Amino acid sequence: MSDSSENKSGNFIKTILDKDLDRDPKVQVNTRFPPEPNGYLHIGHAKSICLNFGLAKEYGGLCNLRFDDSNPCKEDQEYVDSIRSDLEWLGFTPGEREFFASDYFSKMYEFAVQLIKAGKAYVCSLSADELREYRGTLTEPGRPSPYRERSIAENLELFEKMKAGEFADGDHLLRAKIDMASGNMNLRDPALYRIRKVSHHRTGDSWCIYPMYDFCHAVSDSLEGITYSLCTLEFEDHRPLYDWVLENLSIFHPRQIEFARLNLNYTVLSKRKLLELVEGKFVSGWDDPRMPTLSGMKRRGYPSAAIRKFCDSVGVAKANSTVDVGMLEYEIREELNKVADRRICVLEPLKLTIENYPEGQTEEVDAKNRPQDENSESTRKLTFSRELYIERSDFLEEAPRKYFRFTPGKEVRLVHGYYLTCTGFNKNEKGEVTEVLCQYDPETKGGWSKDERKVKGTVHWISAESAVPIKVRRYDRLFSTEKPSSGVEDFKENINPDSLEELDGCLGEPSLLETSPGEAFQFLRNGYFTADSVDSEKGKPIFNQIIGLRDSWARKK
Ligand code: ATP
Ligand code: MG
Repeated sequence: MSDSSENKSGNFIKTILDKDLDRDPKVQVNTRFPPEPNGYLHIGHAKSICLNFGLAKEYGGLCNLRFDDSNPCKEDQEYVDSIRSDLEWLGFTPGEREFFASDYFSKMYEFAVQLIKAGKAYVCSLSADELREYRGTLTEPGRPSPYRERSIAENLELFEKMKAGEFADGDHLLRAKIDMASGNMNLRDPALYRIRKVSHHRTGDSWCIYPMYDFCHAVSDSLEGITYSLCTLEFEDHRPLYDWVLENLSIFHPRQIEFARLNLNYTVLSKRKLLELVEGKFVSGWDDPRMPTLSGMKRRGYPSAAIRKFCDSVGVAKANSTVDVGMLEYEIREELNKVADRRICVLEPLKLTIENYPEGQTEEVDAKNRPQDENSESTRKLTFSRELYIERSDFLEEAPRKYFRFTPGKEVRLVHGYYLTCTGFNKNEKGEVTEVLCQYDPETKGGWSKDERKVKGTVHWISAESAVPIKVRRYDRLFSTEKPSSGVEDFKENINPDSLEELDGCLGEPSLLETSPGEAFQFLRNGYFTADSVDSEKGKPIFNQIIGLRDSWARKK
C-alpha cells in the first residue's frame, strides 16, 4: 500500500504490516505486551497495550500478555495482580494468552548451553569494575576479556556450577562472544546470564542464575511465535543483539519494530519515579487519583473508553515527542459528557432565604438527568423550599456590571426552579455574608417566565430540606511545571503543593448517597465526579472530581 495509509491511520507500523500482507497474505500478525511486574501500569503502557492488542485484533492475529519476570530483585505478585486487573479494565482480556518469561527458564538455560557449545558464549570472571574498564567507551573500542578464550568444556563446567549455586553474586557472568570493537556497545560481548541469589516470586529458589533482558526477550518472543515484536525507541540499539541471539540459536525469528514512547507534559511516566512518589508518601499509593497509573485513573473516574480513544488519537510515530495532557483531558470530557447523568451538589454552600415563600411549604420540581441527550426523557424530582443553599461564589455584595449572579437588585434564574430577585443579605460579626435574601416570582416555575423576560444568569441550588452532606476531593495536576524532570536536581521539587483539596461541607441531592464508584456524574457547573472506591463508606461517599467542565488550568494561568 502507499504511504497514504500511514497518514490516514497515523500509524507507520500498519503501513509495514500492509506491505508484508501484500507480499504474503498468509502473514500472521502476532504481537505481545511484555510488562515487567515491578510497578503498576501507566498511561504510557496503555499506548503499548492498545497498539499491540489493537493490531492483533484488526489483522486477525493473536496478542499475548507476557510478564517479563526475569529480574527477581524488584518484582512482586502485587504487580502481577494489578497488571491483570488494569488490563481488563482497559478492555483487553488475554484469557488463555497469558504467559510468564519465567516459564521458559529451563528452555533458556538449554539455549545458553547451545551457544556455549557453538563457541558463541563464554563464562567471564572479571569484576564489575574490570568489566566497565574492558568495555571501552562510545569513542574507544573495548578490549577482549582475558576469559574470552576459555575452552568450551571449561565454560560448560563453570556455567553448570553457576546454576548449581557454587558461586556468589557477581563472581561470573555468561557473555555472548560477539565483537568487543563494535560501534554498538550492546554488541561488546553482552551479558546473557548473571548470578542472583534472590528468591523469585514464581520460581522461588529453583534458580540462582537469571537471563538478561535482551536474551530473555528475544527467546520468549521466538518461543511464543510472535511475528512482530513492537518496542519503544530506546530498544533500537538493542535490535542487532535481538537479531544475533535468534540467528545464532537458529530459532524462529520475529521482527522487532520500534515506535516512539508516549510522553505527556505535567506528568512523569517512569516506574522508578512513580515508585519514589509512592514510597516517599507524596501520594497515597499507586492508585492515588492524581497518579498517571491506570489504577489511579480508574479510581479518579476516567472512563477507559476515553483512554483508548486518546491512545488512538496520538498515533504511532517513529520520533519521540511530548503530547499535551490537555488532549487526554479533552477525551475524558467528551466521554463523560456522553455518559454522565446530571446532579446537583453545592460545593461551598451559602444559605439563601426566599422571603415571600411560605415557611414549612415544599414542592417538587422536575430536573432532567440527561439534557445532553435530546432523546432522553429521563428526569428526577428536586425538592424546593423557602431555605436553599447556593454556591458562596454565586453571591457578591458589590458586583461589577457584568456579574449575572446574586447581588442586591438583580434577578437570577435557579436551574429547574424559579426566578429570584436578590433583596439583601445578612453578615456575621466577622463581616462574612451568612445569608442571601430573595423574593421569588411564583409565575416562573421550572425556571421559565411566561413573559419571556430575559435573565442572564442561571445558578444551581439545593433545598435545605433535602440536602445531604457530601465530601469532595478536588484535584489539580500533580506537577506544576510542564517538564517535571527538567532544570531541577530532583523532579519532586516540582510537585504541585495544591494538587489535592478536600471539601468537607458540600451539600448534594440525597440520591448521591447511594451511588457506587465508577458511576460518573456531572455536578452542574462544577465538573464531573465519582465516588472514591477506596475511602467511601456505605451511605458516606467521598466524591473525586474527575475533571472540571472546562480547562480551568488554562484560565488560571
Ligand atoms: P518505565 O520506563 O515506565 O519503567 P518500562 O518500559 O520499563 O517502563 P515495561 O514493564 O518494560 O516498563 O513496559 C512494558 C511495555 O510497555 C514495553 O513494551 C514498553 O516498551 C511499553 N511502554 C512502557 N512505557 C511506555 C510509554 N511511555 N509509551 C509507550 N510504550 C511504553
Ligand atoms: Mg522495560
